[in-house]
Amino acid sequence: MTGGRALDVPGRERGAIYRRLGVEPIVNGRSTFTVLGGSLMPREVVEAMALAAECFVDLVELQAAAGRRLAELTHNEAAFVPGGAAAGLFLAAAASMTRDVPDGLLRLADLPALPRDFVVHRAHRIPYLSAVELAGGQLVEVGRLDGTLEEELEVAVGPATAAIVYVPKAYLAPSVLPLDVVVGVAQHHGVPVIVDAAAQLPPAENLWRFTEAGVDVALFSGGKALCGPASSGLAVGSRAFIERMAGNAAPLDRLGRPMKAGKEDVVGLLAAVEWYLGQDHAALNRQYARIVDHFVTWARNRRDVEVTREELGEAGQPTPRARLALVGAAPGARDVLLNALRTTPPRIDLLAGDEGVFYVAPETLVPGEEALITRRLTALLGRGRD
Ligand SMILES: *Cc1c(COP(=O)(O)O)cnc(C)c1O
Repeated sequence: MTGGRALDVPGRERGAIYRRLGVEPIVNGRSTFTVLGGSLMPREVVEAMALAAECFVDLVELQAAAGRRLAELTHNEAAFVPGGAAAGLFLAAAASMTRDVPDGLLRLADLPALPRDFVVHRAHRIPYLSAVELAGGQLVEVGRLDGTLEEELEVAVGPATAAIVYVPKAYLAPSVLPLDVVVGVAQHHGVPVIVDAAAQLPPAENLWRFTEAGVDVALFSGGKALCGPASSGLAVGSRAFIERMAGNAAPLDRLGRPMKAGKEDVVGLLAAVEWYLGQDHAALNRQYARIVDHFVTWARNRRDVEVTREELGEAGQPTPRARLALVGAAPGARDVLLNALRTTPPRIDLLAGDEGVFYVAPETLVPGEEALITRRLTALLGRGRD
């Protein structure tokens, strides 16, 4: 798995710190979902955060220095660590609306005079974009779920447009314009493009691919594939844009102040990016494929479960997962099964799909948990051969 088992101490039970509170930990076969804690931080990240906690530092200086290092590591002009990708969306919205404001500061009283429209493909209208509305932006949808024309985007962009927001998920591609077309339209009108790539890792190249394509900022979650702190994010982009984001962000007393990344978050995110770029991603993907194989082998021995290997993860990233479908089961049987897995220890959380379908994602499993999952599935479904 990526990350995981940061502080292996022989004889110490994993999860004891949560059980002490009466909160039973969860085996995460769902993927890097914030509600389950995002990801598990590797030792390198946990140690960096512990060291960061040992002294005071000027947070503005730290953000600037970490930003320079992050920019270098990700082949970008500039970088900043917001308190999550959604906080990055808020700050990117602020930076877009204030592009003609001399001090670059977003003030609520100024909103009526600012460009506030954020043009977004209908298929890209995801709940996270409420962070744009929180900054005072208004989402303007363009196109249809079955396709979008360049002319439709052209007419949607005008003087009231603050930016175009783009969410690069592979499986949405048929319903949206390619990013290079969007960048072309945006540049023609002189408006920025914000890419919400929160869950678009791997591939690691995405850390520079979107900005190379000409977008002003690309946003990533610190707590997903990067295996950094869940309360951190990574914004990479042009210097002027990133500086306007930072100017509206914590620790300064601006509108972004409630979305704070602390010194441990900044240092932890940097350690996570260094760790992530040092991983052998092909080897990781082979490891994921072996975990998927485990479920394929398990299901092939059963008549009541059909299995397929999926090439794309839940967010459309190129990591494999197993798709399992209950065959001949009563309506609602899948929910009964997932609920039983979720509520009785060892608690296991899996993602539901269409009727009767559920998925197992390998990237958040700790080695050995795949066998635990199939043991529990067998126990709940019965032997299932005849
Ligand atoms: C997870 C996610 C976010 C939010 O990221 P945080 O780092 O948790 O703030 C935003 N957009 C998309 C597409 C996401 O998948």
